[in-house]
Amino acid sequence: MMLSETDRIFTNLLGPGGADLASSRARGDWDGTAALIARGREAIIEEVKASGLRGRGGAGFPTGMKWGFMPKIVDPARPHYLIVNADESEPGTCKDREILRHEPHKLIEGAVLAGFAMGAQRAFIYIRGEYQAEGAALEAAIHEAYAAGLLGPDAAGSGAAFDITVHYGAGAYICGEETALMNSLEGQKGQPRNKPPFPAGAGLYGCPTTINNVESIAVVPTILRRGGAWFAGIGRNEKNCGTKVFCISGHVERPCVVEEAMGVPMKDLIERHAGGVRGGWDNLLAVIPGGSSTPLLPAKICHTAIMDFDGLKEAGSSLGTGALIVMDKTTDIIAAIARLSQFYMHESCGQCTPCREGTGWLWRILRRMVDGNAQLDEIDLLWDLTKRIEGKTICALGDAAAWPVQGLIRHFRGEIEHRILDYLKRGAA
Ligand code: SF4
Repeated sequence: MMLSETDRIFTNLLGPGGADLASSRARGDWDGTAALIARGREAIIEEVKASGLRGRGGAGFPTGMKWGFMPKIVDPARPHYLIVNADESEPGTCKDREILRHEPHKLIEGAVLAGFAMGAQRAFIYIRGEYQAEGAALEAAIHEAYAAGLLGPDAAGSGAAFDITVHYGAGAYICGEETALMNSLEGQKGQPRNKPPFPAGAGLYGCPTTINNVESIAVVPTILRRGGAWFAGIGRNEKNCGTKVFCISGHVERPCVVEEAMGVPMKDLIERHAGGVRGGWDNLLAVIPGGSSTPLLPAKICHTAIMDFDGLKEAGSSLGTGALIVMDKTTDIIAAIARLSQFYMHESCGQCTPCREGTGWLWRILRRMVDGNAQLDEIDLLWDLTKRIEGKTICALGDAAAWPVQGLIRHFRGEIEHRILDYLKRGAA
């Protein structure tokens, strides 16, 4: 199952066409936006529900359903807000970056449409601070949109006002978590909030808020123009449908970002778009399929893995952000996962004990295991530790720290044992 050229949404994902308004219009952006808005709030939400679009930022929650949680009546004292999460910080993930720099008008038009559907007249785009060039491209596009009347008091001739504010993050990974992001926007410490209340009830400044990923919002205009049924018809079934922007990095011939059909086989994705694994498919050791927080899959599973929500769940991992990190047989797999543990330890915000303390324990045990300097029964201890973190924290960073370690033990236990026994042998010699 591969994406046909006629179904491609991001026709300028990597350039070389311009990101400017005239070039974007020539590609179909901003075509009949007022007429799409005139369909009304409910009709837009129903169309997005019919498309089967699920959030592209990692959680995979149905987008139309999420919009439907916003109050139907806007209380003037509590305005509704849309937040676009462009704080793309998950290691291995760089898909939104290409949308921001080459297709910003799809995101801006999508924000206008999504905002209208949820009764919001302002969107905040929270972009990671390191994305300076991407932020400049986005801000230039927003400036053009204001000048052309696509944003402002009569956005796109709809008769409704819509404004966009761009906010740059300061580098904390945890600010990609939606409630930490809102705290950060409000000028507070970027720490996740307990839920409930959920953002649709009390989000930014205590007002109804919906937070969506860049890709989720940028596909909306095309879905509304071509119809939810069209989008739902791409992929394996209604729960795993549409197009998806994948990023492929690591030990491949040509690391790349590419839009493909949901449900594409992992092997096809790597071989067709990234030039294959360095040294050939038989040289593959493992793939982390959805960004660094998703459990790795060993080569024998990668051979048949399907790149969609259910396909990767059945394989024992997750689609996450659709970011594949490919590792060939030269990889020290224990060291690779230990490095990820160090990352999550560093990025823990420290609010919850299992995450604050546990991520450090994971890193310290794994660091010794890289050398083999551990006891065999510490492998079970390490597994037990992940289970005492997973699901027991305020936000998903605890899970994100636990899952890569679980993937390592599940599939490479023999390698860890071998290294420990080898260390003991060397010590005895
Ligand atoms: Fe902070 Fe970690 Fe708790 Fe999330 S899980 S709130 S990052 S301590």
